[in-house]
Amino acid sequence: MPEATLAPEIWDALRQMAFEDGERVAVLSSLAHARERVARDARLEEARARLAEAEQAALEAVTARRGAEVAIDDAKQRIQRTETTLASGRLQSERDIMTAQHELESLRQVVAAREDTWLRASDEEETTAIALAAARSAFEAEEYAAADRRAALDQDVHAAEQRLAIIDGLRRDAALKMPPAIREQYRALYQKTGGRPFAEAVAGECSNCHHSVPAAAVQMLRARTGVPACPSCLRLLLVP
Ligand SMILES: [Zn+2]
Repeated sequence: MPEATLAPEIWDALRQMAFEDGERVAVLSSLAHARERVARDARLEEARARLAEAEQAALEAVTARRGAEVAIDDAKQRIQRTETTLASGRLQSERDIMTAQHELESLRQVVAAREDTWLRASDEEETTAIALAAARSAFEAEEYAAADRRAALDQDVHAAEQRLAIIDGLRRDAALKMPPAIREQYRALYQKTGGRPFAEAVAGECSNCHHSVPAAAVQMLRARTGVPACPSCLRLLLVP
């Protein structure tokens, strides 16, 4: 006795389920992508990192300039002390006088070198201050742009969630029309197949894993008596 064929509405429900499953996977993927971008705005983070770098460079330039100023003041005070000592006539020996004069000379060299450092540091300070102002306004602009991106992403997320609700409604309707045995197989396969329990038998091959579909399965699909499983990936096979 030939097996009973499944009604056309059942095949429609199965095909719709397979289609909506595909839609669901795609929507979930774009939803995850949008949520990831909401959680982490790479361009804003880059602008923040550039601002932090510019702040660091500006701080280093100020520190270098102030360090040169302290060194200059220190050397100048020592010059003054040495000059005072020399002028006082307290130094008796030729040797002490020579030593003091050598010290003066080397202190003056220190001052000249530090003044050179000071000039370069001041120059660097100006450059880094300009770069810092630019980085700060770039960051502020990026904050505005990020807020716009965020709003657009929130809309995307909302739209995807609505689309998901529609898809799931259609899937519930389709599930009700599926024969209980197939529905059970479908449920058992759902997680294992990443939400895609159905595949198609196309030209004697499973569309998912490309394993060849056995003749009995092809015959079952041709006679419309049931839904065979792929022997390799176990997905439920439909005909396109
Ligand atoms: Zn397969």
